[in-house]
Amino acid sequence: VSVQQARRYLAEVIVDVNARETDRAYHYAIPEEWRERVFIGMRVLVPFGPRRVEGYIVSFAQESETPADKIRPILRLLDDYPALTPELIELSEWLCERYLCTRAQAVQALLPGGMRLRSTLVLEASGKIPQALDRQEREILAYLDHQGPQVKTELLNHHPSWRRPLARLLEKGAVRERYVEQTGVKEKRVTYAVLKMDKETLLEKLDRLQANAFKQKEVALWLLQHGGSARLRDLLAATKASRSTVAALRQRGILELEQREERRNPYEGRFSGEREKKLVLTPAQARAYSAIMDMLKTRQAHTALLQGVTGSGKTEVYLQAIEACVQTGRQAIVLVPEIALTPQMVERFKRRFGDEVAVLHSRLSPGERYDEWRRIRRGEVGIAVGARSAVFAPFERLGLIIIDEEHELSYKQEENPKYHAREVAYFRALYHGATVVLGSATPSLEVRFAAAKGRISHIVLPERVNQRALPPVEIVDMRAELRQGNRSIFSRRLYEAITEKLARREQMILFLNRRGYATFILCRACGYVARCPSCDVSLTYHYLNSLPILRCHYCGHAEEAVGRCPECGSPHIRNFGTGTQKVEEELLRQFPGARVIRMDVDTTATKGSHERLLRSFGRREGDILLGTQMIAKGLDFPGVTLVGILTADTSLNLPDFRAAERTFQLLTQVAGRVGRHEAPGEVILQTYHPEHYAIQDAVVQDYERFFQKEIQIRRSLDYPPFWEMTVFTAAHELQEEAFRLAKETERWLRRSFADDPDVIIHEATAAPLSRLQGRYRFHQVIKYKSYRKVKKELLAAYLHARAKARKVDGMLTVDVNAQMVL
Ligand code: ADP
Ligand code: ZN
Ligand code: ZN
Repeated sequence: VSVQQARRYLAEVIVDVNARETDRAYHYAIPEEWRERVFIGMRVLVPFGPRRVEGYIVSFAQESETPADKIRPILRLLDDYPALTPELIELSEWLCERYLCTRAQAVQALLPGGMRLRSTLVLEASGKIPQALDRQEREILAYLDHQGPQVKTELLNHHPSWRRPLARLLEKGAVRERYVEQTGVKEKRVTYAVLKMDKETLLEKLDRLQANAFKQKEVALWLLQHGGSARLRDLLAATKASRSTVAALRQRGILELEQREERRNPYEGRFSGEREKKLVLTPAQARAYSAIMDMLKTRQAHTALLQGVTGSGKTEVYLQAIEACVQTGRQAIVLVPEIALTPQMVERFKRRFGDEVAVLHSRLSPGERYDEWRRIRRGEVGIAVGARSAVFAPFERLGLIIIDEEHELSYKQEENPKYHAREVAYFRALYHGATVVLGSATPSLEVRFAAAKGRISHIVLPERVNQRALPPVEIVDMRAELRQGNRSIFSRRLYEAITEKLARREQMILFLNRRGYATFILCRACGYVARCPSCDVSLTYHYLNSLPILRCHYCGHAEEAVGRCPECGSPHIRNFGTGTQKVEEELLRQFPGARVIRMDVDTTATKGSHERLLRSFGRREGDILLGTQMIAKGLDFPGVTLVGILTADTSLNLPDFRAAERTFQLLTQVAGRVGRHEAPGEVILQTYHPEHYAIQDAVVQDYERFFQKEIQIRRSLDYPPFWEMTVFTAAHELQEEAFRLAKETERWLRRSFADDPDVIIHEATAAPLSRLQGRYRFHQVIKYKSYRKVKKELLAAYLHARAKARKVDGMLTVDVNAQMVL
């Protein structure tokens, strides 16, 4: 017995059970018949307690502490190939360490969602009805009776208060639990009819057939004409033959039926023609390109910031760098924000590289997604284009990772594992000796700062390829509007502009930063916003014992909410924010007959609606496109001559230290929507803070000036990139309990990091979204200089607080390197 074989008696398996208690590898026996076919990285079905779950082999073991008779065998191999590469197994370990998630969560993030075998716990009424039931117990039983079996976790998510009565019902036997297994998507297998002889033999054989066998002849000849093989279904449809005709041909040995894997191709039949030629690079592009080539050639991990305004030709540089990378036999990943992953974007890659590109995005069906992923896994393609999760594309010879619009917050995942695609890209680049290119017109402060410090390279594309000027931006001071008696959401200037464009039948985009998320207080007379004296974020509005108070959700600072503006005494100080729906109503009222297309979370909830609305606007079926930030990117409408920004303030006053950065990015992007074509465009920006540097700098598109100011503020207030921030969130039905849990985390952290000058621990405080799904929410913020030095204590604090939360039916979550703190 060779060593290799000897090892394959036992497999170490990560089980797909999402619990801290089971967050380790388990030993399973490998049945005799599979020992030659089992590899590290394979998905398997294993017994786990009373259920059967998906597992992932992460290594082989020679011996186990578990007694031999307790070791259970693997039940099934779920694929005939290892889904995880050795690199991805390492990456899953790193994800756990970095983001404090479980191994199961980490592995799930690496694989296409639809592939997973799910074993869910389902609750159903047993039919047995015990005597004494309280009101809640009766309510639950009635619900289960009426709605049928329910997935337990989903039910409890919707009705957190049912946890305890449900436990009682289970004990009394009125409700029972059952595991239900669902296998994930697999390869699609289709029956093909395949000719089994060459042309001459076939024709000879057909000649010898009886005259009345004309249908058989027809079928065989059809198949011959179609290259010798075809889907059985197509063959039957085209020749109108019956299955018995096919059976007769099989019997004569003329054709055979085979099961073939068939690719579910979302781009079937498209982009198959001539590939688009590459453009001749401008001198600036050529410099950028050769800088990237130099990094690629070293085969060592490198990162570069590629900074250039929209239209400066970044994408062309990506395309040519990718081509060069693929020509040397290495592979490339391109990440694009989900909203920018439009058909036009995909087309640009498909036209250049055809079927060499696999596309991964959420609008694909699970089957299409799985097949695209398989093409990557098998090394059939050299390029993967997709949103955040495409950073896990299972390439084995990765050369280049491009992250376009690097500053986008959507590169951080909000669920476990709460990874940042940029950080994962760094990990993979290190593993493969690959190059990472971060592209943006408005880089994140972190990345621009790293470039300033020389930690990463800095490549600049200083101007637009076509030299077309950026559009003029006009600022309207909304305080003056109020002074002059205009209380409408439209300034007089914007009103006039809309009227004029409507009369000229030109199109416009009206932009509202956010949908109805208004917790800050703004004085409409002077623009005053209450801010935390030490953190400089806007304070959020909360009720405490039915008294309105303003709170900082970073540090806990609190002050009384007042009825008059402390700056100017005006009574026009109140909760601020208008939803898109209200703006739409207002538009229709003030501009009767205007055709408005509204795009927000509500109107784009269904699959494909996003694109449908955009296409409709593109066909000029609307005069006004009204929307949230989802319309800020990747759109290109030649007919648009006006962009109106209804209030720059909603993003400027988010209770977030990145508010200024995000406002600058957003305004720059929105302004970039016009004037890309012949028709001259204009931008009108309404705000209560016309003097704010984020607005001033965005208007003249001066990123560098903005960066210099903002980095000073970050330094003086101890924010990233100087410190990293991690946020613990405690949630509970009862406000006091939620607060107590957050406090418990704070206490534990204070004990662990007593007097460490490289750690700042803030007081537990209400979250801006202070209540969500029936639970009160409290934050505990910790800042530190080096994650490496604090990670052990952070994990300990998290596990401790989480255990406490569990005991009282609360929730405790952690977000390492939090980007959005809500
Ligand atoms: P970005 O990605 O920075 O927004 P793009 O690469 O999309 O810029 O380029 C903007 C426009 O300029 C596109 O229409 C593109 O086809 C064109 N373009 C880019 N590079 C060149 C070039 N070297 N020669 C001619 N046109 C170019
Ligand atoms: Zn005021
Ligand atoms: Zn504060």
